[in-house]
Amino acid sequence: MNFEFSAAEQQFIEDVRAFLAEEARKPYAREVMNPEREADSMLSDSQERRAFNKELAKKGYLGMSWPKEYGGQEKEGIFDYLVNEELASVGAPLIGKGVGCIGKTVIKHGNAKLKEEFLPQILNADIEFCLGYSEPGAGSDLASLKLKAEKCEGGWKLNGQKIYNTSAHFADWYWVAARTDFDAPKHKGISVFLLPMSAPGLTINEIKTMGDHRTNEVFFDDVFVGDDYLIGELNKGWLYICEALDYERFTLYTVGPLQKKYEKFVELVKTEKRDGVLLADIPEVRKLVARFATEVETATMLQRRVIAAAAKGGVPTVEAAGCKLYSTQLGQRIANAALDILGPAGMLHEGVDYAPMDGKWEHSYRATALDTIGGGTSEVQKNIIARRGLELPS
Ligand SMILES: Cc1cc2nc3c(=O)[nH]c(=O)nc-3n(C[C@H](O)[C@H](O)[C@H](O)COP(=O)(O)OP(=O)(O)OC[C@H]3O[C@@H](n4cnc5c(N)ncnc54)[C@H](O)[C@@H]3O)c2cc1C
Repeated sequence: MNFEFSAAEQQFIEDVRAFLAEEARKPYAREVMNPEREADSMLSDSQERRAFNKELAKKGYLGMSWPKEYGGQEKEGIFDYLVNEELASVGAPLIGKGVGCIGKTVIKHGNAKLKEEFLPQILNADIEFCLGYSEPGAGSDLASLKLKAEKCEGGWKLNGQKIYNTSAHFADWYWVAARTDFDAPKHKGISVFLLPMSAPGLTINEIKTMGDHRTNEVFFDDVFVGDDYLIGELNKGWLYICEALDYERFTLYTVGPLQKKYEKFVELVKTEKRDGVLLADIPEVRKLVARFATEVETATMLQRRVIAAAAKGGVPTVEAAGCKLYSTQLGQRIANAALDILGPAGMLHEGVDYAPMDGKWEHSYRATALDTIGGGTSEVQKNIIARRGLELPS
């Protein structure tokens, strides 16, 4: 069994690192690269971020696994993952939903007009997307979504509400799931549309989360979307959503930030004292560090299993669910342990005098709470493993 990357993959990693070292010297680096950032979704929109994405595009790091006829390079999916892992480890924006879930679904199911309009813009990093799935009564049970799409002359009229739609406040296009058949069984009456975020009738309100992550609620009041902007076949949206979520879990959950969090934890115990005793000299703390060292290695291996399954040509749904479940819960355990061993001082936040590590752990404790919810909760991941992996009854 060989856990190493191939020579070509290793060379690719070196190339990406060299590219990122160059980028780190540019004036915008402080804005777009921050290894302390808890999650990619914490990045807000900025000219610097868009400029950095353009550099990724110029370098050919966007759409590497797409077919050549659509401007891709037909590389294996592992290269998308590898570039994201390197981006995550320097806290730079990931290659994201455009080339991942949306681009791949448009390639597979989109009409000629959608391909022509969107694929070049995605490859050039010209547009940002927002995913519009969740609703107040439809999160884990997404198939219960109720956003109503009714047929009208030349297209559809959308009415209803979405919630927790990250990046709705700056995205250019909305990838939105709506109900187009109210009489069909719930999985069979859903369709997916692409809609400009500037469409009249959309109202976007900020939701502040406990992890300082901005997300949004979005209201639809007679929002028009043209027939051409329906993805694939009418009422087949559930299939496209499931495929797109699989792509998302594969490329978006990197282990680099978890490894960085663990390294910071080790730094903490080597530098902070409790009652005059260095944390690293306290037996219970030493046991914790040893356990986390093992668990971070386990998370890394689970991620390698995702890559290995994808390299065989499949969509690694079960492997990605296991990796997401384990690594997001481990991130929480590390943040929780840091607060436990720091005592009251651990609750001091960034910018406050005497806050250990400038409040990193207070923030991490709040931010990691979101990781086990976004992209499917831990319970949903367990259900995927139970049903699809172990074939247990529903
Ligand atoms: C940071 C962040 C970013 C997000 N970004 C987006 C986005 O861009 N676009 C978007 O559409 N959505 C987004 N979401 C929403 C996210 O997908 C939902 O919050 C998530 O799917 C859970 O849905 P819910 O909040 O409605 O909780 P619910 O589904 O109501 O779940 C509540 C609790 O019940 C549990 N539960 C539910 N069903 C079951 C079951 N069958 N078995 C066992 N337990 C169950 C859940 O695990 C959870 O603990 C984001 C969420 C977060 C936190």
